[in-house]
Amino acid sequence: MKRRDFIGASVAAGAVLATGCGEKKESAQQAAPQQQEKFEWKMVTTWPKNFPGLGTGANHLAELITEMSGGRITVKVYGAKELVPAFEIFDAVSAGTAEMGHGASYYWKGKSEAAQFFSAVPFGLNAQEMNAWLYHGGGMELWQEVYAPFGLVPTAALNTGVQMGGWFNKEINSLEDLKGLKMRIPGLGGEVLRRLGGTPVSLPGGEIFSSLQSGAIDATEWVGPYNDLAFGLYKAAKHYYYPGWHEPGTTLECFINKKAFDALPKDLQAIVLTASKAANLDGLSELTARNNQALHTLVHEHKVDLRPFPDEVLAQLKRVSDEVVAEIAEKDPMSRKVYESFKAFRDQASAWHEVSERAYLNARQG
Ligand code: CA
Repeated sequence: MKRRDFIGASVAAGAVLATGCGEKKESAQQAAPQQQEKFEWKMVTTWPKNFPGLGTGANHLAELITEMSGGRITVKVYGAKELVPAFEIFDAVSAGTAEMGHGASYYWKGKSEAAQFFSAVPFGLNAQEMNAWLYHGGGMELWQEVYAPFGLVPTAALNTGVQMGGWFNKEINSLEDLKGLKMRIPGLGGEVLRRLGGTPVSLPGGEIFSSLQSGAIDATEWVGPYNDLAFGLYKAAKHYYYPGWHEPGTTLECFINKKAFDALPKDLQAIVLTASKAANLDGLSELTARNNQALHTLVHEHKVDLRPFPDEVLAQLKRVSDEVVAEIAEKDPMSRKVYESFKAFRDQASAWHEVSERAYLNARQG
């Protein structure tokens, strides 16, 4: 049955009914290409077209779906504003204007506060833990439940890994140094900074470098060494702080119009979901490899001043982050349900990774 499902050529359903049962079904389902139904899909994204890492990740997913389906689904990718503005893609896919969207779920907190748990949570899950929660810890089922009222099917489509703390023109030696700090940092991390006396600023990617260089902002976070090097941020700031406490393993998403998804034969549905899983793994793998190289370049060629946040600062950032995240649970029953699953998973993952990943990395370091 499995094999037949997998081979099963689109709506050769007619052929299946006509041939009756048994082995003949399988050969009958291997319909000639011209008999297979073709699907032409559009993917709208929150990224500029071909934007390194993020836009190219969307392109990669689209290509993978076409390749794995033997051309039975073609996906045309639209950069932000090409078909709809970046922050309207959720509604556009919900309405069926496009079949797929590629973005990050924290953009949709206006639709559902719970959505924020599926992208990045300060002091939340790293990439390995996030994937474990989504694929084997109940996270994906919750995400589906959150998006169901909008007629959308979510998938994880790329993970950045632990991001960097950011680029600073002021040293951060104590909590006092966060007071009055004007920093480009979005989302929940920005709210944490605000509560500690800083001024979070929201800026599109294209304006970050000039704002940092002109002194309009004191600091910025972006992604990790690879994306930060590409932006030339080392030319505009003195200190490069780690770790990215605010985005420990950011998941980028793909979401699919549910009617369009349901109209696909089972094998193509499996291809779309499996391609997303492959893109999720590939994005993390690519960024890890490129971050390794780029960090080396930043430190050894560009002589960047790489430094950790002081322990005291991280401890307070964590205390406030836990408060901010717990408050999401108060917003509505769905947010509470997701928060409780997320938090229970994080607690267990912390205990396990204490004796696995952390113990191993410490041992390797020594
Ligand atoms: Ca970031």
